Amino acid sequence: MNIILFGAPGAGKGTQANFLINEFDLIQISTGDMLREAVKLKTELGKQVETIMANGDLVPDKIIFSLISDRLNKEDIKKGFIFDGFPRNLKQAQKLDEIINDMNIKLDFVFHIDVDEEILTSRIENRAKQEKITRKDDTSSILIERLKVFNRETKPVLEYYSNKKILNVIDGMGTIEEVSLNISMIIKKDFKVD
Ligand code: ADP
Repeated sequence: MNIILFGAPGAGKGTQANFLINEFDLIQISTGDMLREAVKLKTELGKQVETIMANGDLVPDKIIFSLISDRLNKEDIKKGFIFDGFPRNLKQAQKLDEIINDMNIKLDFVFHIDVDEEILTSRIENRAKQEKITRKDDTSSILIERLKVFNRETKPVLEYYSNKKILNVIDGMGTIEEVSLNISMIIKKDFKVD
């Protein structure tokens, strides 16, 4: 089973990704994690993307395509995977279609964890106030910038999957458990899980 999970910054995407990985025994493919690892290890790639990420902008598609192609070449993805943070713009979505067509695999579910803009903004502000900032791109002004990037670049991708009739919009304003339950009910309805 292959899944794409969308959610604006502050929507709770990471939490739900973890839930799905455990519940359905999937591999997580998070471009954000891969890029942060490169930055931490100070690789050539890490140096190229560090400032871009710290500003909340998208890293160039070419870099993302090479990360994704390499990752999808590994055996373990046959188990089923969840894309978290990819595709983030229309070019990436089109490229993903090409890649998976070539590989003869398909997407089973696309979820958008939908949260009202005002709630996102207030979650972002609270998060920045209360928690110790562990990520450079987690300050409130950068989070607001990332929200803008989401609206500008990623919203059209939601429309792309909506037109293909494979988008499931999930109300992201309930409790964590309610959101998880809504997602897993959709999966279990269409997919026999043992
Ligand atoms: P979030 O906390 O919103 O889930 P991520 O961890 O997915 O964010 O991504 C963090 C940063 O990494 C993004 O703001 C962006 O700079 C970069 N990034 C991650 N995935 C992509 C992608 N698919 N395309 C371009 N940039 C990306």
